[in-house]
Amino acid sequence: MQRYTNDQTVSHFIAGQFFSQAGAKTAHVFNPSLGTVARQVELADVATVNKAVEAAKAALPAWANKPPLQRARIMNRFLALMNQHRDELAAIITAEHGKVFTDAQGEVTRGIDIIEFACGIPQLLKGDYTEQVSTNIDNWTLRQPVGVVAGITPFNFPCMVPCWMFPVAIACGNTFVLKPSERDPSAGNFMAKLLKEAGLPDGVFNVVHGDKLAVETLLNHPDVAALSFVGSTPIAKFIYETGARNGKRVQALGGAKNHMLVMPDADMNKAADALIGAAYGSAGERCMAISVALLVGDAADKLMPVLKERAETLKIKNGLELDAEMGPIVTAAARDRIKGYIDSGVEEGADLLVDGRDYTVAGHEGGYFLGGTLFDNVTPDMKIYREEIFGPVLACVRVQNFAEGLQLINDHEFGNGVSLFTRDGNVAREFGKQVQVGMVGVNVPIPVPMAWHGFGGWKKSLFGDMHAYGEEGVRFYTKQKSIMQRWPESISEGAEFVMPTAK
Ligand code: NAD
Repeated sequence: MQRYTNDQTVSHFIAGQFFSQAGAKTAHVFNPSLGTVARQVELADVATVNKAVEAAKAALPAWANKPPLQRARIMNRFLALMNQHRDELAAIITAEHGKVFTDAQGEVTRGIDIIEFACGIPQLLKGDYTEQVSTNIDNWTLRQPVGVVAGITPFNFPCMVPCWMFPVAIACGNTFVLKPSERDPSAGNFMAKLLKEAGLPDGVFNVVHGDKLAVETLLNHPDVAALSFVGSTPIAKFIYETGARNGKRVQALGGAKNHMLVMPDADMNKAADALIGAAYGSAGERCMAISVALLVGDAADKLMPVLKERAETLKIKNGLELDAEMGPIVTAAARDRIKGYIDSGVEEGADLLVDGRDYTVAGHEGGYFLGGTLFDNVTPDMKIYREEIFGPVLACVRVQNFAEGLQLINDHEFGNGVSLFTRDGNVAREFGKQVQVGMVGVNVPIPVPMAWHGFGGWKKSLFGDMHAYGEEGVRFYTKQKSIMQRWPESISEGAEFVMPTAK
């Protein structure tokens, strides 16, 4: 089955067909393991974005009117196809993003979880009903689709993050325009083809590839009713402010600086496993990566030698090799930005225990590789503590006690995810209660909530009111309507001028 227009150029998918604009601007899509240009992606102009929105608008009335059970049946067929093609999709992700194949399989599985959740849409859209809110008057609430929805997604999860959005939005009766990251655009097109094979009517799901221009066109388009964004904080803030100013419903998930607080009573082997996996998995290019370890009391002396040894011996390879633990960084520019952060950590006086700056992989000398990097004695005033690095760099901060660690977490501008390692139930309970972060793990390295719980951070990690997917997602992609009704036989004569109350 052909899933691209050709191997060299990734084009748009509009109204059920691949679409190329004449004389399109393009951008390189790299193979990060080799450091070569693999293909080109078209960058949509205004007319192309408008064409996608028009297709979504045209498909909306019939799709919104389709019974939820019929929409769910199409989702079920899509679910089966995603399961069938899981490894093919994972290989596409590894080729363009660089993450190791087994991690890409995990990403696809977490995306599939949301599709499964969306298959339950008839139950999720069931409204509330009160018989007799007043004598002979009934009142019920229902939820209706918001309209054309746009999703703008980051490079780091080219399958899972779009799946946080479109399965729920579409199942709710909306139509969708996805603008994937231009760094790894092929997963979006692959899923578009599978949706078509599943029987989704043309125009319900569209993909436009592009950059700032495509995003701004969606943000300013009068026919786009709602926008879901996931990416870095400055862009999330811009999207939220511009979308809201234009009267749209917006959820914009931003960056992160996730801490793990390790108490002296924790199981140190398990804490070390958790830190290594969460800091270096996907080369740290996860919004739920742990980038700061807060080590309480003597936890640091116990953990640092283990972390050093483990960071030095990570298996860093082409992600397609099945024993790889970490692959390359997505682009040369991203690798150089991360290197700059490591330089700044050294300049600001942190102890660089493992230096990943000059890492090379035999046979892949041109690849965008970095080694796992480990800093000790990082302090909160340093740039490597304050800013999101989004790479395989773990900053360890030594703290005296629980209260000092908690305060640092709560003072940080980001509040996406956090984790605590301890054996003390009371400490765990207080942590869950007091920590100012949206997603919390206790003895769990990366607490990414499952499909029916919803995903979202606090503070500068999320702009908007609703988390992604789960019941929050259903609320975001629907508008509540309240209907109050009685029948003419029970209406009394005469106009009433007072506020109606229950009688
Ligand atoms: P990014 O912000 O650079 O890009 C995200 C999307 O915005 C892409 O589709 C991109 O094309 C578009 N974009 C980029 N610059 C733009 C501009 N000036 N105007 C309009 N649109 C623009 O993010 P990225 O580098 O692709 O992804 C990494 C970031 O995403 C990290 O900060 C990470 O923490 C964050 N992220 C957050 C979550 C979360 O759930 N909070 C999840 C995944 C990734």
